[in-house]
Amino acid sequence: MTRILHRSIGPELPRAVSGQGVYITDAQGRRYIDGSGGAAVTSIGHGDAEVLDAMRRQMDAIAYAHTSFFTTEAAESLADRLVDLAPQGLDHVYLVSGGSEAVEAALKMARQYFVEIGQPQRRHIIARRQSYHGNTIGALATGGNAWRRAQFQPILPQTHHVSPCYAWRDQRPDETAQDYAARLAQELEDKIVELGSDQVIAFVAEPVVGATLGAVPAVADYFERIRAVCDRYGVLLILDEVMCGMGRTGTIFAHEQDGIVADIVTVAKGLGGGYQPIGAVLLSGRIYEAFRDGSGLFQHGHTYIGHPVAAAAADKVVEIMARPGLMENVRAMGQRLRDGLADELGRHPNVGDIRGRGLFCGIELVADRDSKEPLDPALRTHARIKREAMARGLISYPMGGTIDGVRGDHILLAPPYIIQPDEIDLIVQRISDAIRATV
Ligand code: PLP
Repeated sequence: MTRILHRSIGPELPRAVSGQGVYITDAQGRRYIDGSGGAAVTSIGHGDAEVLDAMRRQMDAIAYAHTSFFTTEAAESLADRLVDLAPQGLDHVYLVSGGSEAVEAALKMARQYFVEIGQPQRRHIIARRQSYHGNTIGALATGGNAWRRAQFQPILPQTHHVSPCYAWRDQRPDETAQDYAARLAQELEDKIVELGSDQVIAFVAEPVVGATLGAVPAVADYFERIRAVCDRYGVLLILDEVMCGMGRTGTIFAHEQDGIVADIVTVAKGLGGGYQPIGAVLLSGRIYEAFRDGSGLFQHGHTYIGHPVAAAAADKVVEIMARPGLMENVRAMGQRLRDGLADELGRHPNVGDIRGRGLFCGIELVADRDSKEPLDPALRTHARIKREAMARGLISYPMGGTIDGVRGDHILLAPPYIIQPDEIDLIVQRISDAIRATV
């Protein structure tokens, strides 16, 4: 019997014993294609010899040095690499150990920035409904997933939520994409004004919504308009790229494709590629300078920030990710995945939408394609598809999301960036079979 309190208490999980490329093998010798990179974590693939070498060299040299006494070559090199690859303006990095930690640090950084520059009255965070920003108290409060929040509501700090950009459900038939983006930007502006035009710290959003909607990018114009509203009221724009960032959508940073510059960006998951737990917060020069010229201290910090082995692993992962050809592969294989799914499932009565960017792909399931009515949550369709897919040797990431309080089902696919055409075709076949066996 297991002594671990697993995420859910139920049938014993298979034990993973090895990983190579896009495959994971369990103790029974069963081989699974890692069609979701776990939870969009495995970026450059399993078992990469260069990353393992980099980690080994770092461990041989020094495995840990506390960041209040020392910096390390690995951490400095990773920070330089991230800044070099980031859109202009994001020129400093704060290293953490995962996604929720990155979001917590970003929230506190934003609040302290306004204290440093003499605007301590700013106290509100605005995010979007149907979003997920992590499971710690601050990150959970920022997220707008009603189901994840429900039982913890009494202990969550107050945050505010506006509508997500979810054109497939929410763009009106008489509205262009531009009209829709303008309506959402107006909703944000109204919320800022309602809370007090000089009272808001930050607006937080995922450029491509992952865990809660299933790979939903914003419409063109949306982020430009949001950026303009934030600028009008001096509100910081925090983009949470924990899931969609680090190459997942075919560019190193997802928001490169939205043509805007953020004040703070959080990354994790694909950054360490699963080799080590690591996350990072990228911040603009203006925020860094406010800290430097103010208190000289970011009043935050965990014991393992800037961990040298994690930094060495991530530095190599990002170096590999940025080599010529890999982002092109993400874009080409992502297109092949969506095309293959459209061919196989495009007419399935319960497949409402197939969407995404790069190797970040979502399939939304519905009870009725015309009305887009969600499946009955009691059926737990997403959980049954996960089991059917695993039985066919495929790891996928099905979830019950939240559609205005009603749970809806979608499946996230996010395979490693090194995936090849025949492996994409295998994912298409196996997930289609798993869906057809379930609904
Ligand atoms: N932010 C986003 C957008 C995420 O998708 C997640 C995890 O799925 C997190 C934050 C939290 O990251 P972690 O699970 O590493 O704490």
